Amino acid sequence: MQKGIVIRAIGGYYFVQTEQGQVYQCLLRGKLKRQHQRILVGDWVHARPTSSSEGVIEEVLPRRLELSRPPVANLDILVVVNSVVHPSVNLVLLDRILLAARQQGLRCILCWNKVDLEQEDPQLSGYIQAYLQQGYDCVRTSALTGEGIDRLIELLSGSMAVLTGDSGVGKSALLNRVLGQTVQEEGDISQRLKRGRHTTREVVLYPLGNGGFIADTPGFTRMPLVGVEPVVLEDFFFREYFSGCYYSDCRHRNEPECAVKEAVAKGDIPSWRYDNYLFLLDELVDSQEGQWK
Ligand code: GDP
Ligand code: ZN
Repeated sequence: MQKGIVIRAIGGYYFVQTEQGQVYQCLLRGKLKRQHQRILVGDWVHARPTSSSEGVIEEVLPRRLELSRPPVANLDILVVVNSVVHPSVNLVLLDRILLAARQQGLRCILCWNKVDLEQEDPQLSGYIQAYLQQGYDCVRTSALTGEGIDRLIELLSGSMAVLTGDSGVGKSALLNRVLGQTVQEEGDISQRLKRGRHTTREVVLYPLGNGGFIADTPGFTRMPLVGVEPVVLEDFFFREYFSGCYYSDCRHRNEPECAVKEAVAKGDIPSWRYDNYLFLLDELVDSQEGQWK
């Protein structure tokens, strides 16, 4: 019996890569089939080889985490890709993804891509500084020149990762760079293809050679903020400040003696962070109508 990870599932076959790096094309053992056991890419299994390239999955090991979009199990890391120019940095989307990931207990790595195109954006280093301070790993990359790719791969060592971010930021280009082969179309034509096949595509995991895996399907592209508690939002944006507000239920909007607004006025909290907070707060209030106005 060998322990392995399901890297691809297609037509009732499961491709299982063992810890030794060998890939077996497996069927499900009858008993598991009868139990209607659903197997996802990313699941760890025990497989029994029946030949040098085929085998049978005998047991599915307990799943730590399960996502539906994309359908993967046991994800460790979300690589949130932003483009520093064309399209420009989208910080609201970034914060939205970081919050959703936090709800799921997922670690995030922030990738600032297309730095080869950067034209002295005075804001960029400030953005990166703020997220570093929040404890996020940040890496400046160029899928074109290869800058930062080694560091990105290093950060993914031993983990299973999915790329996410706005359309056109370079997710496909980065994936191809990281893997050193073209597994996904890049550019304008591919944007249409990607939209068309979004919901139906199977997910394939690619090994990174350092115990890590990366999925070829971007995740978390549409990300409404549901079920986020006010305190999670506050904690995410203003951890060191919000306990200093006069009102314990301060929303940091119009309340007097608000430590957050004071910090914004002094420049301790960047105004763009505060604006993002207000934007997402409004969205939460709208989505939870009446629950916390
Ligand atoms: P996706 O929608 O996030 O998968 O974005 P793509 O990978 O398809 O990239 C969108 C466009 O940006 C393509 O034309 C890529 O060639 C280009 N691109 C991606 N990464 C970089 C980069 O680091 N530098 C430059 N100059 N262009 C890039
Ligand atoms: Zn306040």
